[in-house]
Amino acid sequence: MNKFDYMEKHDYEQIVYFYDKTTGLKGVTVIHDTTLGPALGGTRIWNYASEEDAVMDCLRLARGMTYKSAAAGLNLGGGKTVLIGDAQTCKSEAYFRALGRYVQSLNGRYITAEDVNTNTKDMEFIHMETDHVVGLEGRSGNPSPVTAWGAFHGIRAALKHRFGNDDVSNYSYAIQGAGQTGYYLINYLIEAGAKKIYFTEINQRHIQRMAEEHPTVEFVPTNEIYGMDVDVFCPCALGAVLNDETIPQIKAPIIAGTANNVLQDEDRHGNMIKDKGILYAPDFVINGGGVINVYHELIGYNRDNAMKAVEKIYDRLLTIFKIAEKEDIHTQKAAIVFAKDRIRTIGEVRQSYIPR
Ligand code: NAD
Repeated sequence: MNKFDYMEKHDYEQIVYFYDKTTGLKGVTVIHDTTLGPALGGTRIWNYASEEDAVMDCLRLARGMTYKSAAAGLNLGGGKTVLIGDAQTCKSEAYFRALGRYVQSLNGRYITAEDVNTNTKDMEFIHMETDHVVGLEGRSGNPSPVTAWGAFHGIRAALKHRFGNDDVSNYSYAIQGAGQTGYYLINYLIEAGAKKIYFTEINQRHIQRMAEEHPTVEFVPTNEIYGMDVDVFCPCALGAVLNDETIPQIKAPIIAGTANNVLQDEDRHGNMIKDKGILYAPDFVINGGGVINVYHELIGYNRDNAMKAVEKIYDRLLTIFKIAEKEDIHTQKAAIVFAKDRIRTIGEVRQSYIPR
């Protein structure tokens, strides 16, 4: 693939390759768009089959971050770092400090964070070399309750749009995955008096925890969750769960959960869901609580403020649902329209010269 053609087609700003001889650190940082602010995106370590796969993954993920942050109302652009290697063996203080120096060399155009195969401890090493890192120990803490809180308000928005009433207690829910985010989501739904909740899990510890803490939340086998006769199906486990096989089984009129990349093919399955008359809350908008939470580290972290900011997902989703209806497009596409529109208008507004 010709990288410059790809950059031109999708409006990328920068691709940075780096290699450190001492530690074997090898990777790439992509900055997609910094119209709204510095490009934020996590650092992922993966044993990619080829360099080409690594760069493509980084390009795709960085662009996703641009839209995620824009749709979350943040003053951030989109970026990503992927490191090519075996996370079991490549990690060390020196390895992450070497990465921190490359991040620092970008002079604040890019801010990193944890992602697949990196954690807060690794971020502490990066922090020894640069301030352009978030997700540090003792700052914004566990993002999962915040993400789930955003999903809870996203579900309310979907109920409002679909039924004209967002009172959670009138409806029933089927949750796929009761891990970090699914568990908190179930707790918020119970607190709001949800009529009935079903869940599925593959982790025995999580099944046991639910039985002990909330025996009224009913377990169902994994293959039955799609066909549950409920008002809302909440995917909170894996990606690509909305596909040719599962969509025909879904009875719920609303799909809204925390999981990332749930549409196996954005256009094909976005349209399939739309044609079935199901209202789908776009994943990167409804699960934006995590990025909103770490963003607050940059402006002075306070959990109450982060939780309040996340509640605005409600209004954003209502706007996106209206765009989808007006333009007769699926909601995932409407969410991109919404994000691009914010980037364009804010970018234009900020073009004028003001002396400081
Ligand atoms: P997690 O690993 O804590 O929870 C996922 C749960 O799903 C696990 O308990 C797992 O056992 C279960 N599971 C896996 N396969 C399953 C199956 N086939 N059927 C039923 N259950 C199954 O992860 P999480 O942090 O809750 O994240 C869930 C999703 O939300 C992911 O897609 C993640 O990318 C996304 N997300 C999470 C956050 C966050 O703040 N944690 C933020 C944004 C997006």
